[in-house]
Amino acid sequence: LLVGTGRGASLGILIKGAEILESTRQVDTVILDKTGTVTSGNMELVSIFPPDDLGVLQAAATLEGGSEHPIAGAITRAATAKGITLTSDKIPADFQSYPGGGVRGTIAGQGVLAGNRKFISEQGAAISSAFEEVITEHTSRGETMVLVALDGQVKGLLGIADQVKETSAPAIARFKELGLTPVLLTGDTENVARQVGQQVGIEEVIAEVKPQDKVVAVFRKQGRGATVAMIGDGVNDAAALAQADLGIAMGSGTDVAIQAADITLMRPDLLAAVDAIRLSRRTLKIIKGNLFWAFAYNVAAIPLAALGLLNPMLAGAAMACSSAFVVGNSLRLRSFQPVEAN
Ligand code: ADP
Ligand code: MG
Repeated sequence: LLVGTGRGASLGILIKGAEILESTRQVDTVILDKTGTVTSGNMELVSIFPPDDLGVLQAAATLEGGSEHPIAGAITRAATAKGITLTSDKIPADFQSYPGGGVRGTIAGQGVLAGNRKFISEQGAAISSAFEEVITEHTSRGETMVLVALDGQVKGLLGIADQVKETSAPAIARFKELGLTPVLLTGDTENVARQVGQQVGIEEVIAEVKPQDKVVAVFRKQGRGATVAMIGDGVNDAAALAQADLGIAMGSGTDVAIQAADITLMRPDLLAAVDAIRLSRRTLKIIKGNLFWAFAYNVAAIPLAALGLLNPMLAGAAMACSSAFVVGNSLRLRSFQPVEAN
């Protein structure tokens, strides 16, 4: 355990306790959060509809100034880059944030909403069919669409893109080699989730999950007999990380996620998660090998000693050999090599 967790630490894999290794053996399903885990989470505004409608961008950015969501960051950064000045005193007094949905508030007497389709409909704003078409077109390209409504009518769309990490696809392939079924879990729309899933090789996606329901998704899988590893980075992943049989947090993520997880990855890529599972399994195998040999020595030698057929000098030497073997066998873990992305 000492050598295994030590080697993990040197590879940037922090294992919280030795008993965690045991749970990695039976894990058969790995649920991955999308934003910040499979993708970089560095979101960027890539499209505005109607094209170059700065009014829509300004309204959205003013409102998003009050949100800490990565999407909000992308919108405010783009607005600043286009010369729109944003100050915190412009954030409306009645600003409200709806996790997994969007934001709302009143700007210059006008009710403004910015968020996903579902949220906008729930808030009772109307969407014309022209906008619907643009939404379908952009989401099938993998863009997360933020709808901006003014006074109950959708007036503009902002397309946000996130990059899939280079190491995600190779890591998913390795998970499959290890016998794990990958599942993508996200609050984003089905279209975007499928698009990302396709890029990295994940067939099963669970989309449009509210932050508080991520834990339910893990629970459901477990109810169907799966042993689940969950990999995530956000505040909204914390409960799911705690519920999973094995919780793995990205070290680049939030403190709550790290707190809730069993293993923390100091490298921001999923190959580290593959290594964590491989290393844990290897460690467990060596522990079992050690136990076997320690017992085998005794099972063979104790009857011999009881019958007076074993020279005490030899018995002493055998005992020392057994201990040396266990230590030597364990030290082999120090040469454990991480997987390469190819
Ligand atoms: P994820 O599971 O991808 O990390 P979240 O649960 O945080 O996502 O959010 C789900 C969806 O809710 C986002 O894809 C976005 O459409 C919408 N959303 C959440 N917060 C905001 C916001 N501040 N502005 C606009 N849209 C938002
Ligand atoms: Mg995330």
